[in-house]
Amino acid sequence: MIRIARTPLPAEVAARLPPLTDEIAAAPDRVKAARAAWKRAAVRRSVHAPLRRLLEEMAPGYQRCMYCGDSQGTDIDHYEPLSRNPLRTFDWLNHLLACSTCNSNLKRDRFPLAEDGTPLLVDPTTEDPFAHLLLTLALGTYVALTPKGQATIDVCGLNRPVLTQGREQARRVVVMSLLKWTAGRARGAADEMRDAVLTVQGQPFADVCQSMLRLALSPGAARVLDEPVLAVLRDGELRAQLLA
Ligand SMILES: [Zn+2]
Repeated sequence: MIRIARTPLPAEVAARLPPLTDEIAAAPDRVKAARAAWKRAAVRRSVHAPLRRLLEEMAPGYQRCMYCGDSQGTDIDHYEPLSRNPLRTFDWLNHLLACSTCNSNLKRDRFPLAEDGTPLLVDPTTEDPFAHLLLTLALGTYVALTPKGQATIDVCGLNRPVLTQGREQARRVVVMSLLKWTAGRARGAADEMRDAVLTVQGQPFADVCQSMLRLALSPGAARVLDEPVLAVLRDGELRAQLLA
């Protein structure tokens, strides 16, 4: 999971949302009304389609899920579930792009709260996931730094084996690409350098490269990363191209 910058909603699309929220607010059963409005064919065309296009542009890599970073994001996820707060069904700030495994199989209607009522699920568009989650690069697993991090790991299944294995593979691809970038620069081969950057940017698991870039600047980096990889991860030119 990486930090994601939310694009402002174009005024034309934003104007379509308040009447739908008003409709839900006026209904006797708001959850039922929210579900019906969300599924309506006209709403799918005029609201889902533009929202989804924006979310796809915001998502890491090629439309990757904003929770796991692995699969294609196919669903508009309600960060705060519709069943819990139907009035946020058409709230742009409540929309994320998720794969069907994260959205429909794992997260579903779960929305854990702390004792003070604040959400215990990381929203990558409003906060830095790395403040709550530490990626162990050698194993591809997440370790929680906070209770919110732990709840996010649990709710989204962030340590499911297909993800930890995928992150290990992503780390290998990133390391090979970084070494290729260094070799390309030594030869003055701009095309090789560009290919290396494009390979990293097109990978699923953008969190792996972002973790490595952060780790490279931390005091214990040399214990985890080999010297040639560490040197390139600390290179200002490369960092400028890869930092999210
Ligand atoms: Zn996912």
